[in-house]
Amino acid sequence: MKKSLALDLEQARRREFASSWKLTYMTFQPAKEALREALCTLGNGYFGTRGAAPESGASRIHYPGTYIAGVTNKLSTHIAGRTITNEDFVNCPNGLPLTFRAGEGRWIVPSECRLLTYYQALNMRNGALSRRLRLQDEHGFTFTVEMRRIVSMEHRHLAVMRYVIIPEDRDGPITVRSGLDGNVQNSGVARYRSLNGKHLKADAQGMVDRKTLYLSVKTSSSQVQIALASRTRFFRGEEEIEPESHIVHKGEKAIYQDFRLEARRNQEIVVEKVVALYTSRDAHVPKPRLAAVETVKKNYRFFSLYAGHKLAWHRLWKRFDVRIEGDETYRRILRLHIFHLLQTASPHNAHIDASVPARGLHGEAYRGHIFWDNLFVMPFYDWHAPEISRALLMYRYRRLPQARRNAREAGYDGAMFPWQSSATGDEQTQIVHLNPMSGKWGSDHSHLQRHVSFSVAYNVWRYWKDTNDTEFLARYGAEMMLAIACFGASLCVFDERDGRYHTEGLMGPDEFHERLPNASRAGFRDNAYTNFLIVATLLNAVEMLEALPEPQRREVRHKAGTDADHLERWDDITKKMHIPVNKDGIISQFEGYLALKELNWGAYRKKYGNIQRLDRILKAEGKSPNAYKVAKQADALMIFYLFSLRKIGAIFRRLGIRYGEETLRKNYDYYVKRTSHGSTLSKVVHCYLAHLLGREAEAWQWFLEVLRSDIYDTQGGTTPEGIHTGVMGGSIYIALRCFAGLELFDDRIVLDPSLPRDWREVRFRLLYKGRWITLHLNRRQIFIYIQGPRHKPYPLTFEIYGKPYHFAYAKIYKISLRPGRLGAVAGAAPQAVQERILIVDGDIMHATMLKTRLEELGYLTECVHSGPEALAVLKSGWVDLIVMAVVLRGVLSGYQLFQEIKGSRSYGRIPVLMQSQKAGMKPLFERIGVAAFLVKPQPVHDILREIKKILEKNHPKGETGREKR
Ligand code: BGC
Repeated sequence: MKKSLALDLEQARRREFASSWKLTYMTFQPAKEALREALCTLGNGYFGTRGAAPESGASRIHYPGTYIAGVTNKLSTHIAGRTITNEDFVNCPNGLPLTFRAGEGRWIVPSECRLLTYYQALNMRNGALSRRLRLQDEHGFTFTVEMRRIVSMEHRHLAVMRYVIIPEDRDGPITVRSGLDGNVQNSGVARYRSLNGKHLKADAQGMVDRKTLYLSVKTSSSQVQIALASRTRFFRGEEEIEPESHIVHKGEKAIYQDFRLEARRNQEIVVEKVVALYTSRDAHVPKPRLAAVETVKKNYRFFSLYAGHKLAWHRLWKRFDVRIEGDETYRRILRLHIFHLLQTASPHNAHIDASVPARGLHGEAYRGHIFWDNLFVMPFYDWHAPEISRALLMYRYRRLPQARRNAREAGYDGAMFPWQSSATGDEQTQIVHLNPMSGKWGSDHSHLQRHVSFSVAYNVWRYWKDTNDTEFLARYGAEMMLAIACFGASLCVFDERDGRYHTEGLMGPDEFHERLPNASRAGFRDNAYTNFLIVATLLNAVEMLEALPEPQRREVRHKAGTDADHLERWDDITKKMHIPVNKDGIISQFEGYLALKELNWGAYRKKYGNIQRLDRILKAEGKSPNAYKVAKQADALMIFYLFSLRKIGAIFRRLGIRYGEETLRKNYDYYVKRTSHGSTLSKVVHCYLAHLLGREAEAWQWFLEVLRSDIYDTQGGTTPEGIHTGVMGGSIYIALRCFAGLELFDDRIVLDPSLPRDWREVRFRLLYKGRWITLHLNRRQIFIYIQGPRHKPYPLTFEIYGKPYHFAYAKIYKISLRPGRLGAVAGAAPQAVQERILIVDGDIMHATMLKTRLEELGYLTECVHSGPEALAVLKSGWVDLIVMAVVLRGVLSGYQLFQEIKGSRSYGRIPVLMQSQKAGMKPLFERIGVAAFLVKPQPVHDILREIKKILEKNHPKGETGREKR
């Protein structure tokens, strides 16, 4: 009996282990616990709790942190001869505590017991963390302990845990302890530990009834009240039991309840603990403590909360899942990334004033601050849940007045967002930074990364483009954009000597470089990425402005204080900004970069192995990274990550700066050799660029690194302090943008898939201008389904491998692909569901009749009446058949046009059906290669029959001839 149970269990475990919905751990590893806690964090956008054991407080092994979106607090510390103030992401009271003991034994902490079996799983589909273990306490008594818990995606203020204790070899008294612990501080990041981390002041605590506790604390300076209530209930089977309980206070900020019961051998004791959490920041919650108590008193049971929570998650997965067929591992990791992003910002965020912290709601690194990383995260939300994107942008909009103050105080115009943003939007970047390698504090100039403001503008612009949310644009977006554009313009100084605009004193994303060697001031002249961003921001701002109706345009301009002179100067900047590029086409990261010393990368790799944080290594050696051509991450290369090659080319041309087809390749090859990838973001950018260059094997290697970043903590210790939201967002972007080849434009969706070798298929959904689109892509077919009313007259336009399609709503389209080389666009000719026919006829009536009939039959048609117009259509896109009349309007006759077409290398193979009133011309046209010749007037159904015949003959099984544009 026991054996078969064990077998069943083993099979179930294997099944689970293989599931791409789960992260499964079969052993307890103290050294890995911090990483596991970060990866097993549960959250719902409102708050997150690390996947820590409920039995233990913060210890050498465990760190049970709870973080509430937007709850921060400032504290000062006297250190390195000065007082510094930091605004931290407050580690809030811990609602997890739950443990037990047999008789008067020690309280059970699994990591301190003898563990007989251990199993822990994060179920991403259901958003649940479960653990099952068998352990022996200090007296050798054996217990099976099962735990399952959730942070509700349905009710954002609730978390619930089901904890089952089975004494295996003992009858007797057991005491269960459940509590709320506010004796916590911010100590999750070792290098911040010398800084003051005690943020919580006591407020109130107590017992409401025998099952219910509350605890309320206040943050010391931001004065946020954080209130928790818990309700702990006991069950034997379905029957609730009410063991005697008494209160245990641990100072003024922690309260526990001890429940004493008689346990029986092999009989389950089921404990359910529901915790509610509210703060004084919650809208419409005047009394957080009362709200918490009233919520838990609703007597929720675990499974009923779990059911609603699962449903909420399933709804999210339906929208966000990226399902890769063919490889479980990548599918699992991508899902892990989607899962954690949704736990960091979810649909609940529509009602929360917060953004996506660089390290999620998962840990204390970077203090929950908001950086430029959202650039990498936003497409994930833009494409699946624009209401979340909008909430994240509103976080910035609410801080626009502060951004204006920031700019003013620094001597600029417009709005300057801080490099590290927190509650108020003032600058939160540290001014001193600890080098853990040398133990020394050094100055930190990273706040000079003014590019962050332009990343906000970029996110606004992209959100608008992807979602068409003109209401947001008119009310908030355009105002932000203009204010940032004003700031950008005020950074630019015109230099009479070279007739160009320049910027001074700025840093790019490469934080290894803070100043030129021997320079007295930090920052650089002409950081290429920032200068380019300023130009793009100014151009985008004008485009946005023009998209607004006149009265709103006037209002927005008035708010931003931009007059005609401003616009004129902006225009001038977009033509004369300096971007340093050398004669070989290498974009200099900043003025002077190319003259720096080369580093012996081989020697450093040999000496140190992992040289990602080369800055710390060099500084510990007494050298300065400023002196070398080294970079932490993509800086100049960011230009190619954010903008299409077409747009980059246009901007460079506008600036009169040399730019060629080779620019990307040259710069990639130049910088990749000089970058240590000390930020995980760097790998995302390099992956994208390698793909753009058609270096699929290299792109794939980068992608693997991107995927490995968090799950394997490849930076060696950063993930335990919080996940990296940028790399997580970046991985999904690459899967969709590069491998599925997805690109959204105003007028069409482009698909240019090149699936990695191991991927059989990728499936996902996406929201494009208010329409849900389901896509399944594999090497043989593409399936497209657009949700919407069947009768809707406007189809959506797609461009698949360069060929246009118009798809109606509520139909499934299948586009078959001829097997081609992997990722080779030209080799992968699609089968057409719809063929595109060009009608060229001087007789407008006849042409229009034919067009109407063809469209009724589902063909795409273009209709023109002259030779030059026909050539323009042929040059601009795909045509499967030309139906032409000899008599045309204008300069070219049908005969001349026909000869022109046949002589062309690009479209000479497109079949032509010629129509003429003169039957005698038939032999002539047949000699020179016409596909069919019909004598006019010919009944339309005869023409249609001929058209079908030609298409069938030229594209058996529906294939269409296709030539490269
Ligand atoms: C990177 C920044 C990034 C920050 C937060 C730093 O290590 O250099 O680019 O914004 O981490 O993720």
